[in-house]
Amino acid sequence: MSEQVMPDPVVRVTDARELARDLVVIPNRRVQLVPNIGVIGGAHSVLVVDTGLGVENAETVLRFAAEFAKGRKLYLTTTHFHPEHAFGAQVFGGEATFLVNRAQAEDLKVKGPGYLEMFKELGEPVARRLQGVRPASPDLVYDQEHDLDLGGRVVRLRATGRAHSRGDQVVTVPDADVMFTGDLVEAGQFAIFPWFPPHDTDVSGVRWLAVMRRLAAQSPRVVVPGHGDVGGPRLLADVAAYLESLRDETWIRRDSAMSERTIAEEVKAVMLARHPDWAGQEWIEKGVGCLCAEHE
Ligand SMILES: [Zn+2]
Repeated sequence: MSEQVMPDPVVRVTDARELARDLVVIPNRRVQLVPNIGVIGGAHSVLVVDTGLGVENAETVLRFAAEFAKGRKLYLTTTHFHPEHAFGAQVFGGEATFLVNRAQAEDLKVKGPGYLEMFKELGEPVARRLQGVRPASPDLVYDQEHDLDLGGRVVRLRATGRAHSRGDQVVTVPDADVMFTGDLVEAGQFAIFPWFPPHDTDVSGVRWLAVMRRLAAQSPRVVVPGHGDVGGPRLLADVAAYLESLRDETWIRRDSAMSERTIAEEVKAVMLARHPDWAGQEWIEKGVGCLCAEHE
């Protein structure tokens, strides 16, 4: 990740904000490794989207969700298996039904332990939050799509196929026209490419771009990104445009047999000039590495 010291990734429910009737987001306040967390209610059930990093954060989220639910049945889903999104799911065991798509369940099982160790290297506050964490296994697994009936409100869970990770999932609430994207979208920052060869090379810039075009075509009223401020359909278009330009700028240089290091330097300069206010510039080079590998 970045060279700077990682702040304590604490979830604060005091800033929870209602986006639609019976639908709130606990915002990440632009704190690294804090995701935007959704709580979506229906007549008889409530769905939580993402847990926060570690046991204590997930306990905070569960307490908030239980108060919100007022006796309604609880469900939990996670947008993908990365630690700040899913490494609190164990806390919901016995309290909520945890459901995800099959590829993500596989990610949790196969990649979860490695990511746990990798994230413990990100500094003391993160390591402390990961104490006692074990990647949880879901109670329910679906293949491509699942419609979850919360009572008078159906929530759509859709596996997108490999993009930011292998098991990415988008959650939409059609009656409120709200879409939760997980890390397929980060507002105000460069797209996070978890490109860590040889350990993890699942991220695909090419597939991610195709997914973003499909999501942008749906044009939801409200988009809740994995990180950064809640916005509208523009967020989807912005990511699609960024991924497209990252691909084009990388491939045009790859065609001329430039070294990957030089490509990364040049493309980074182009992207920083185009998006001077975006955070997370360390992810540009990772994206270039991924797209170099995807170049035919
Ligand atoms: Zn992620």
